[in-house]
Amino acid sequence: MSKVYFASARIKKWKYADSMPGKLERLLKEVNLSAYFDKDEWIAVKTHFGSEGAHRVVRPVFLRKVVDALKGIDAKPFVTDTVRIKGLDYLEVANQNGINSLSVGAPVVLGDGLYGNDNIMVKAGEILGEIAVASLIYDVPAMVVCSHVKGHIQAGYAGAIKNLAMGGVSSGHRHCGWKCGRGAMHSIGEGRLIWDEEKCELCLQCEEICPLKVIKFENEMFGYSEDDCWRCGRCTRVCPEGALMLPGDDERFMKALAEAAKAVLSTFKPNKVIYINFLTEIQPECDCMPAADVPVIQDQGILVSDDIIAIEQATIDMLLKAKPLPQSAADEIEEKTDDILFDLTKRPYRIQIEEAGRLGLGSRDYELIEI
Ligand code: SF4
Ligand code: SF4
Repeated sequence: MSKVYFASARIKKWKYADSMPGKLERLLKEVNLSAYFDKDEWIAVKTHFGSEGAHRVVRPVFLRKVVDALKGIDAKPFVTDTVRIKGLDYLEVANQNGINSLSVGAPVVLGDGLYGNDNIMVKAGEILGEIAVASLIYDVPAMVVCSHVKGHIQAGYAGAIKNLAMGGVSSGHRHCGWKCGRGAMHSIGEGRLIWDEEKCELCLQCEEICPLKVIKFENEMFGYSEDDCWRCGRCTRVCPEGALMLPGDDERFMKALAEAAKAVLSTFKPNKVIYINFLTEIQPECDCMPAADVPVIQDQGILVSDDIIAIEQATIDMLLKAKPLPQSAADEIEEKTDDILFDLTKRPYRIQIEEAGRLGLGSRDYELIEI
C-alpha cells in the first residue's frame, strides 16, 4: 500500500507551523527527500505557469518551499514547464503569475526550448506509439511534480497524470509539428468541428479563444483549417449557444494521457520522482485557458506521495467528498450527481487512473497520513 501524506488547508492555530507554507515544509520533511534525491543532483520542479488570465496556478510561495527543501539536502532544483506560447512570452506569463527566479529561489526555464521544439521521441503505447518528451525532462535525473488540481476541458480531472502527460511532453516537434507533441493526445479520435448555423449567434468567442487562430468567419459562415486545428476543444467549451461540437473518443483520450505520462516517467530511474498535488483554488478549467473561474470546491490542502496513482486516487476521493461551492459553476449545475468532477465536464476522467494502473504506474490502494 502506498503512502500519501496530507496537510489540510484548515488551520487550527494562528501560527506559521499551521499555515499552508508551514505545513508544506513539514510534509517535505516527513517524506524524506534524501531518500529520493542526491547531493548536487539537478531536480526539475515541474509546474504549470498558467496563462495571462489564469492566475490560479500553484502559488510561488509553495514552489519556493519545494525549492528550499531541495536546497536543504544540497540538491540543485530548477522550476520548469513546457511551452504554451512560443518564444520568451511564456516565461513572461510565468513572471506575471509571480513565478520567477527571485520568487522561487531557483532558475525558471522552459523544458522544451524557447520554441517548444526541443524533445526526444519516446515509446508511449498502443494508442500514441511514441511521443515527444521535452528534452530537459528527458535529460534531468529527478523531478518533483507540482500539480494544481482542477477540472479540464477534455481530461475532466487534471492532476499529476495530466500535468505529466500534457506538460511533460513538448509543445511541438521540429519536423512533425504539433501532432508529435501534446497535440498527439488532442487529436485522438480525429473528430472534426461541427458548426450548427441555426444555433450560432455570431458572438465570435470561438474565433477569439482559438490558440492557433484557425477559425475565421466570412459572410457570417464558420470556417476553420482542419489541418492546423489541434482539436484542443477550447472553441466548443466557450461557445455559449452549444453551436460547436467536436466529436471525439473520450476513452481513448484518457488512455492516451496515461500512456504519455508513462512515457515521461520512463525517462527516470525508479524512486526519482515525487508528486505534490495542490488541492487549492480548484477551478473548473485548465490553467492554460485565458481566464480562471472561481473555485468550485473549497481548498482541501496538499498531498505528497511517490506513487502517482495513489496520489491521484486520494485527490479524487477527497474532491468527491467535498460540497460544491456556492456561486460557482458547480453550484449552477442543474442535475447534480455525487460526482462533481463528472457533472462539470461530463468526461469519464476515472479512466486515466484505471489505465495508469493497468500500465503499472502505481497502486490505487493508499494509506493517508495526515500531519
Ligand atoms: S479545437 Fe482548438 S485549435 Fe481547433 S479550432 Fe477549436 S480552439 Fe482552435
Ligand atoms: S462561439 Fe458559438 S455562438 Fe459564438 S460565434 Fe462561435 S459558434 Fe457562434
